[in-house]
Amino acid sequence: MRYSKLFGRTSKEAPHDADSVNARLLVQAGFINQLAAGIYTYLPLGLRVLSKIKTIVREEMNVVDGQEVLMPALIPKAPWEATKRWHAIDVLFKLKGAGDKEFALGPTHEEVVTPLVQQYVKSYKDLPVSVYQIQDKFRNEARAKSGLLRGREFAMKDMYSFHTSLQDLEQYYDRVKQQYLSVFSRCGLNAIVTEASGGVFSKYSHEYQVATPSGEDLIYQCDQCHWAVNREIAEVKDGDVCPTCTKGSIHEIKAIEVGNIFKLSTRFADDFGFHVTLEDGSAGQVWMGCYGFGPSRVMGSIVEVHHDDVGMIWPKSVAPYHVHLVSLSHKDESVQSRIDEAAQELHDELTASGVEVLWDDREDVRAGEKFADADLIGIPLRLVVSEKTLKEEAVEWKARHEKDTRLVRIDEIGDEVTAWLAAPERLTSHG
Ligand code: ATP
Ligand code: MG
Repeated sequence: MRYSKLFGRTSKEAPHDADSVNARLLVQAGFINQLAAGIYTYLPLGLRVLSKIKTIVREEMNVVDGQEVLMPALIPKAPWEATKRWHAIDVLFKLKGAGDKEFALGPTHEEVVTPLVQQYVKSYKDLPVSVYQIQDKFRNEARAKSGLLRGREFAMKDMYSFHTSLQDLEQYYDRVKQQYLSVFSRCGLNAIVTEASGGVFSKYSHEYQVATPSGEDLIYQCDQCHWAVNREIAEVKDGDVCPTCTKGSIHEIKAIEVGNIFKLSTRFADDFGFHVTLEDGSAGQVWMGCYGFGPSRVMGSIVEVHHDDVGMIWPKSVAPYHVHLVSLSHKDESVQSRIDEAAQELHDELTASGVEVLWDDREDVRAGEKFADADLIGIPLRLVVSEKTLKEEAVEWKARHEKDTRLVRIDEIGDEVTAWLAAPERLTSHG
């Protein structure tokens, strides 16, 4: 992709109203554009990141036999009345359609998925089953803030599983709980599994919390066994001896909740009179689990964790492009055409081998400005072609998270980049 053709631009000024690092950097680098508080357009660079996060969570949910569906976001009032949540959910966006019929924009989908699955699942033989969707959710958050961390419209992956017994639900729940760790590590995040209130349904739910000073949540974690609990339900405090391993000590950490999984028990199935026929012909209860993950909040969290003073530092797995190719300008026309030719060849060679390249091909833009933009955008590998590098028949290589540059011969660069791309990620937190 040629940067000169890319829709969306970096801007020199940080947005004056940005209240968080992710909002400032993502807007300034041309990844997202704010329409209103908590409501954003994803520009091409930002959409590529969001799509990669969604692909990762999709792949991992398929591993635990989740089947993807897409439910409507516009939901009639009746099922919300069945679960008594029309008035109970304070963030519910309500609207009136033709003939004054009332609707809500889905903040979560138990009211749709439970009667949906009920239509197809009649017998114990049809269970277990697990369905998920990746969809925009709507919540009338009183304080939409912190860029992508707390939106009014935001992306969610929500999965719902259905079982004939609590034991089967628990086994499946543990499988998903484990699989979630791969989702986060593939996104470049180290998520802490944290006990949290289970609502009315069970003693605990599990949250996935990413430690960062900008986090809204406070969690307590043991420095030895790594057991963690959300402050909202905690019976421990900073400095306590860990109640789980009785050896370590408890530390308070600021964190962002990026995922949350629940055992819903039979609460929603009961509301809709959803039973299945058991082997002996009797009517059996249906046990449910739900598994939430926020792709847009994850995108914001990655920026909160992986950035420095000059911009973002994307993990390879979710970077908008793998390589930021920079061709420098030169006064002499023949030198310039050699630079452009070499950059074009490199772009084509890398692209043909599956490497995603953003090529800053802009004419009349100073080297310093191109480098500053590359730092801001945060693509993990920068390659520079200039008169100086071509003299050595080479390209300048710089990893975004490292200071040093080095020259790599043009005839070796293809292999080096593919090897770098295949190597495991080695990013530490910079935020
Ligand atoms: P919070 O306590 O932060 O308001 P929640 O517990 O209400 O979140 P869940 O209902 O558990 O959120 O939603 C599942 C996931 O969706 C969350 O773990 C988070 O990643 C994401 N999410 C929830 N609310 C928002 C929001 N307003 N903006 C962006 N992502 C969100
Ligand atoms: Mg939650």
